[in-house]
Amino acid sequence: EGEVDFKEDAKFAQHLKKDEAVSEFAKSKTLAEQRQYLPIYSVREELLQVIRENQVVVVVGETGSGKTTQLTQYLHEDGYTTNGIVGCTQPRRVAAMSVAKRVSEEMETELGDKVGYAIRFEDVTGPNTKIKYMTDGVLMRETLKDSELDKYRVVVMDEAHERSLNTDVLFGILKKVVAQRRDFKLIVTSATLNAQKFSNFFGSVPIFHIPGRTFPVNILYSKTPCEDYVEGAVKQAMTVHITSPPGDILIFMTGQDEIEATCYALAERMEQLVSTTKKGVPKLSILPIYSQLPADLQAKIFQKAEDGARKCIVATNIAETSLTVDGIFYVIDTGYGKMKVYNPRMGMDALQVFPVSRAAADQRAGRAGRTGPGTCYRLYTESAYLNELLASPVPEIQRTNLGNVVLLLKSLKIENLLDFDFMDPPPQDNILNSMYQLWVLGALNNVGGLTELGWKMVEFPLDPPLAKMLLIGEQLECINEVLTIVSMLSVPSVFFRPKDRAEESDAAREKFFVPESDHLTLLNVYQQWKANQYRGDWCNDHFLHVKGLRKAREVRSQLLDILKTLKIPLTSCGPDWDVVRKAICSAYFHNAARLKGVGEYVNCRNGMPCHLHPSSALYGLGYTPDYVVYHELILTAKEYMQCATAVEPQWLAELGPMFFSVKDSDTSMLEHKKRQKEEKSAMEEEMENLRK
Ligand code: ADP
Ligand code: MG
Repeated sequence: EGEVDFKEDAKFAQHLKKDEAVSEFAKSKTLAEQRQYLPIYSVREELLQVIRENQVVVVVGETGSGKTTQLTQYLHEDGYTTNGIVGCTQPRRVAAMSVAKRVSEEMETELGDKVGYAIRFEDVTGPNTKIKYMTDGVLMRETLKDSELDKYRVVVMDEAHERSLNTDVLFGILKKVVAQRRDFKLIVTSATLNAQKFSNFFGSVPIFHIPGRTFPVNILYSKTPCEDYVEGAVKQAMTVHITSPPGDILIFMTGQDEIEATCYALAERMEQLVSTTKKGVPKLSILPIYSQLPADLQAKIFQKAEDGARKCIVATNIAETSLTVDGIFYVIDTGYGKMKVYNPRMGMDALQVFPVSRAAADQRAGRAGRTGPGTCYRLYTESAYLNELLASPVPEIQRTNLGNVVLLLKSLKIENLLDFDFMDPPPQDNILNSMYQLWVLGALNNVGGLTELGWKMVEFPLDPPLAKMLLIGEQLECINEVLTIVSMLSVPSVFFRPKDRAEESDAAREKFFVPESDHLTLLNVYQQWKANQYRGDWCNDHFLHVKGLRKAREVRSQLLDILKTLKIPLTSCGPDWDVVRKAICSAYFHNAARLKGVGEYVNCRNGMPCHLHPSSALYGLGYTPDYVVYHELILTAKEYMQCATAVEPQWLAELGPMFFSVKDSDTSMLEHKKRQKEEKSAMEEEMENLRK
C-alpha cells in the first residue's frame, strides 16, 4: 500500500549518476565563487539598471536563484546604502535569521554588524547595519513609529508570493510610501505565481525575470492513497537510502511533532538495519528543521554531513521556498502542510493540516532539481494531484483572524478598514468579526475607534488578549507577575520531556504545579529559576529547557522596556496570586469554559467541547473547577485546552459582561453575530470538504 513504482525509479537512478560530479563541485567552491555561480549573477547589471530606472520592480526567479541572499548585496554594492539602509522582509522568522547569517558570512562581517536581522523580541542589528533582514511583521510594526520608513532607501519584500497576512498589509502601506517618497525603492520578489498581479497593484511596474537553471525532476506518484504518511515517508526514505545513488533526501511533513516522529522512526530503522546487516550500512544523517528548532540545530541542515553520510532533512513547508539546501536529489512529499485558518467554531485561528496546493506541490518537487536531475516521490495519487488539490493557496488574509491587523491599521488612522488598499480584500465578515473581538476586549469603542486601552495595546508586539492581560495587570497592581506569564506564553514550552525518561520528567514538572492554574505554574517555574540565579544546570536538573527560559527572560526585559516608555510602574502582588488569576481571566473570556463532565468542559459562548490536557496542573486540585479560561485550544486526538486557569464565575460576569449577561443594548451587534455564525458554518463546511 502506498508503494511507489520502483522499476522506473531504478532506471532513472542510472541517469542520475552522471550528474553527481555537479554537486561535489558546488560543495568545494569558496563563498565568492558560489555567489558568482548563482543564476542572478549573470543578470546583475541589467537588474540594477532596471532598478535605477524604476521605483518599483517585481523580480521573479526560481527558488535558489539568489534573490534573497544576493539582491540586498547588489543594492549595497550599487550605493543604495550610503544614505539609508536596505531592508528585506521575510514571512518567516527562521528564514530571516538564517539568511542574514549567510549574507554576513558572504560579506565577511559579524552578524549584527553590517548585516543584521530583526524578528519579534530579537533585534540583532547595530549602528553599522546596512542590510537588515526582518520578518514582515517587524517592518509592519516599524511603520507605526515611522510611517514613511525614512531610514530605508530600499525595501525588498521577499517571498511575496507566500501572501502572508503581514505581507499583504505591507503591500497597502508600502504603496503609500512609494507615492510619498520619490527616493524610496521597492522590490517585490516572487516565485512565478502572482507576479503579474503584483505588477498591476503598483501600477503596471516592470517584471524582471531571472533566467532559471534547474534540472528535470522525475515525479513518481503513489499508486494508492497513503494511510499513514509518516510511515510512508519513512519507508520511502529508507528505500532511497539503501537502493539509490548518492544525493540528499528532503521530506516534507506538516509540523514539529510529525517531524520528530519521523526522525525517531528513521533512526530506529537505521539502528535495526545496522544490527541485522553484516556488511556495512551506509550512514544517514537525520536532520529536522522547523521554525521552533534552536538556531544552532537549524544551521546543521546547511553543513556537509560527516564522513560522506547521506543527509535526510525532515522539514515543514519552510523548505519549500524560504530555505534552499543544495545537494537535494530526492524529495518525499506527503502532500500536506499546516495552515493557519480561522476556525469559526472556536472563534480563533488554529493551525490545521490541509492538503497543499498544486503550486506548492510543484515547488516541493522542484527542490530535487537544483543541483542535478532529481526524483520526487509523492505519497498521494496522480488523480488526487489533478483533481483534489487547489491550484494555488488561499492568501492568509482571507482565512485568518485579523485582530492584530485591525488594531494596527486603526492606529495608523485608517478609519474605514473596508476602504484600505488591499490587493485581495479579506472577507468583510473577517474584519467585522475581528473588530467585534477587539470591542469585547475593550480595545475598540462602540463606534469602532481605538479606546485608551486599545492605544496602549498597540504598543506591545503581542496578540491582543495578551496585551490586554498585561494592561489589566497594571490596573490590578500585579504587572510584575503578569509580565512573566505573558513572556512565558510567548516562547515554546519550557518543559522538557524526553521519551525515555517520561516518568521522571513528569514528576519533575509536577513539583512546579500551582493547582489552580497552568499560567501560575509557568510563573512559579520562572520565579524559582530566578531564585536559583537563572542557572542552566538547575534547569537540566528539573527537566526545563534553559534556552526557552532564557528567551522568556529576554522577552520579559523587552516588554519591560515598553512598559517603561509608557511610564507604567512595575507593581507586584507578592505571594497572593488570586489577583493574577483575575487578570488572566480578563484576557480570555472568549476562551471561558464550563464544567460538563470529568475533565470535560464546554466553551461558555459556543458550547464547543474542550478537555483539560493530561499534563494540566489543574488535576492537582483534587477536584475539577466549575469554570476555567484557557490560552488556546489545540487539536490533536481531542480538543485540548492548552494552559488553563480556574476562575470564579463572578469574575467572568464582572470582566466580560457582554458575554455573560446578554441583556445587551447593542442589538445590532448581536444580530450581526447571528448572521455571521450562519455564514461561518457554511465556510466551515467548505473547509471540511476541502480536507476530504
Ligand atoms: P532565492 O531567494 O532565489 O531562493 P537564495 O538567495 O535564498 O535564493 O539562495 C541562493 C543560494 O544560497 C542557494 O544555493 C542556497 O543554497 C545558498 N544559501 C542560502 N542560505 C544559506 C545558508 N544559510 N547557508 C548556506 N547556504 C545558503
Ligand atoms: Mg528566497
